[in-house]
Amino acid sequence: MTAVRLDGTRVASAILADVAEGIRTRVTAGLPRPHLAALLVGNDPASETYVRLKRRDADKVGMTSSDHRLPATATTSAVVELVESLNRDDDVSGVLVQTPLPPGVDEAVALASVDPVKDVDGLHPVNAGRLLLGQPGMVPSTPAGIIRMLDVYDIEVAGRHAVVLGRSNIVGKPAALLLLRRNATVTICHSKTVGLAEICREADILVVAIGRLNFVKPDMVRPAAAVIDVGVNTRPDGRLGGDVDPTVAETAGWLSPVPGGVGPVTRAMLMANTWQAEQARRPG
Ligand code: NAP
Repeated sequence: MTAVRLDGTRVASAILADVAEGIRTRVTAGLPRPHLAALLVGNDPASETYVRLKRRDADKVGMTSSDHRLPATATTSAVVELVESLNRDDDVSGVLVQTPLPPGVDEAVALASVDPVKDVDGLHPVNAGRLLLGQPGMVPSTPAGIIRMLDVYDIEVAGRHAVVLGRSNIVGKPAALLLLRRNATVTICHSKTVGLAEICREADILVVAIGRLNFVKPDMVRPAAAVIDVGVNTRPDGRLGGDVDPTVAETAGWLSPVPGGVGPVTRAMLMANTWQAEQARRPG
């Protein structure tokens, strides 16, 4: 079979259009535009690009945005001080601390300094705890986007076996919790998992977030499974590639491509989170 391609660009456009429409209505009612503040420490080129793209997305949906920079030599307390000033700033709806942070900055402390209400990356322990407890809160954009893609394509989750490869705080763990919340039976695999290929073969839904180019091969996929490829890797020819070998399209029922799958949806969900943060702070 040839898998249905999960078109992330299409899903993202619909999310962005909804956010833009909500903001237009709000601005017409005389309320301020939401504002996304990004904090960049050091000058990692990939982080520079991500922040630029996020600000461009914000502009597209009618939000204002700003970036706040500190040198790579910044201390943890300098980062916390800047985050706290953004927390206090009533004009700021959402604060994101672009990771990775330089080695001299304690990432856990920096992320925990973001006001949970403005935590658009959903990485504050309060939001992580709310997700665990099944309470409303801010959910990291990538796993939220994965669920959105499954919904848009009417892929059944309840009662299905979902296998998540990867257990990071930003993708694997929250993706597993969201799938569990939707009544999937969830297995999480990681680098110490024994018999990984057999477990993958049992998956109705396979979410792959490990950062290993073409790791998942067709013989690791159950025929007709839904395969969500989160990985972003560089191929030997310099192009982007996922964690799933593209030939899996011949076995799977659905497959999200890289590029053009989870990536654009993740970026759109960040805008949705910022919009959600603004509405939570100042209900219209
Ligand atoms: P991460 O923090 O590096 O975590 C990788 C996870 O994969 C870890 O849990 C690790 O296991 C597991 N792993 C690594 N090698 C493995 C193997 N051979 N077999 C089984 N498990 C293995 O990565 P991340 O931040 O979650 O990101 C994962 C990938 O998604 C990366 O390629 C990243 O660029 C991409 N990503 C894409 C988006 C997007 O918007 N498209 C967003 C976020 C991330 P251990 O815990 O045992 O070490």
